[in-house]
Amino acid sequence: MESIKEAWSGILDYLHRQDDISEVAYNMWIKCIEPCTIEGSSVVVLVHTDFQRGIILSQYADKIKNAFQQVLGIPFDLKVVSEESKNTPEPVEMPKAENIFGQRPSDYEYSFENFVVGSSNKFAHAASQAVPLKPAGSYNPLFIYGGSGLGKTHLLFAICNEIRKKAPDTRILYTKGEFMTNELIEALRNSETPEFRAKYRQVDILLIDDIQFIAGKLSVQEEFFHTFDALHQANKQIVLTSDRPPREIATLEERLRTRFEMGLLADIQPPDLETRIAIIKRKAQLLDIDLNDDVCEYIATQLKSNVRQLEGAVRRMQAQCMLEGDHPSILTAQAAIRDIKNDNQPVPITVERIINEVARTMSVSPEDIRSNKRSATISSARQVAEYVVRNITNLPMKNIGEEFGGRDHTSVVYAIQKVEETMAANPSFKGLVNDIIKNISDS
Ligand code: ADP
Ligand code: MG
Repeated sequence: MESIKEAWSGILDYLHRQDDISEVAYNMWIKCIEPCTIEGSSVVVLVHTDFQRGIILSQYADKIKNAFQQVLGIPFDLKVVSEESKNTPEPVEMPKAENIFGQRPSDYEYSFENFVVGSSNKFAHAASQAVPLKPAGSYNPLFIYGGSGLGKTHLLFAICNEIRKKAPDTRILYTKGEFMTNELIEALRNSETPEFRAKYRQVDILLIDDIQFIAGKLSVQEEFFHTFDALHQANKQIVLTSDRPPREIATLEERLRTRFEMGLLADIQPPDLETRIAIIKRKAQLLDIDLNDDVCEYIATQLKSNVRQLEGAVRRMQAQCMLEGDHPSILTAQAAIRDIKNDNQPVPITVERIINEVARTMSVSPEDIRSNKRSATISSARQVAEYVVRNITNLPMKNIGEEFGGRDHTSVVYAIQKVEETMAANPSFKGLVNDIIKNISDS
């Protein structure tokens, strides 16, 4: 017989065609199985984690054995080995807090010139413009907050761009709150906080986008607090953004909140009609398309709360222009807006939805997650669900415990800690959890 490695793609094809294996399950659990060898009457395969091994054995072993029979024509047993238990720790790949500004060419397009100023954002805009003029001169930190798609990242990039022009030697570190948090968790685990400190404390300006991701992680907050103080005392500029003001980040430690509030708090509100029209015109100009005033006004009256959507509408109009070679009409605008609204239907996020999504992705039932069953697979799914609920809703631990069949809040704390640790140690597990979160948040 040909080697199992050569036959494997046929086996994968067969499994992929099975109706009782969903596309998500196939991609998550089956596709990444690596065939190794045949030992006696067993096919030996390798997976990354014990967790994955458990899922495959409990959910998919029979289906895979059936595929052997169908594709190879011989019955084989299945033996699953996980790399984790082979004691070969995987290389940990985490987004590092390198400066990530300038990784994409488009980062350079976010300038102050391209930022349309209106009453909803003029304060945040003016405060941001002051930073490159005199870093750490007046407001330190500058804390910009506001809803999604209102221009926070745009302003941070504009600060970076301006500083690069004015004082190219300035050491800039732009990163996302999520990346920094990950890096810190890893540093704490590996006793590498000195390296973390050294790296962060040698910069002239530190910009952290979406700092709200630091919420809840006490050891991380503690370590960041010292870095913040060190930079602040050395008169280095710090700029932070968040989707909420510091006092509304529920699990932000008091002393960090005080620090965040001691400079300047600048909020960005959704733009008014006039500003929305101006933004549409600016975006059209940047994309080199000609939009009539009534079309601009029509889009601006239909899309009110999010600049990213306005931009999306203009892009769709541009695509339409290219297809039709014409000035887009109100009808075209209507179609573009309908698409965008359909793409962005907000679905309320409930604990139930989160549990369903985790259950679906991790191949257990929602009832199992709410139950007291303690098998490894179910416990793990329950912990992930508790973690995701915390991450997305920021509900207090006590309430989360109640949602999960009246569990004690300490068991919720334990579950969340466990998931955080596993995520830090294991990139594929981390990917899984992040995907669940993304799926829930984006839907
Ligand atoms: P946030 O970080 O607040 O979620 P972004 O900065 O990513 O939002 O903005 C989303 C999009 O909207 C970006 O493409 C940005 O250029 C654009 N945008 C937001 N506000 C403005 C504005 N006042 N003028 C021009 N473009 C804007
Ligand atoms: Mg942003």
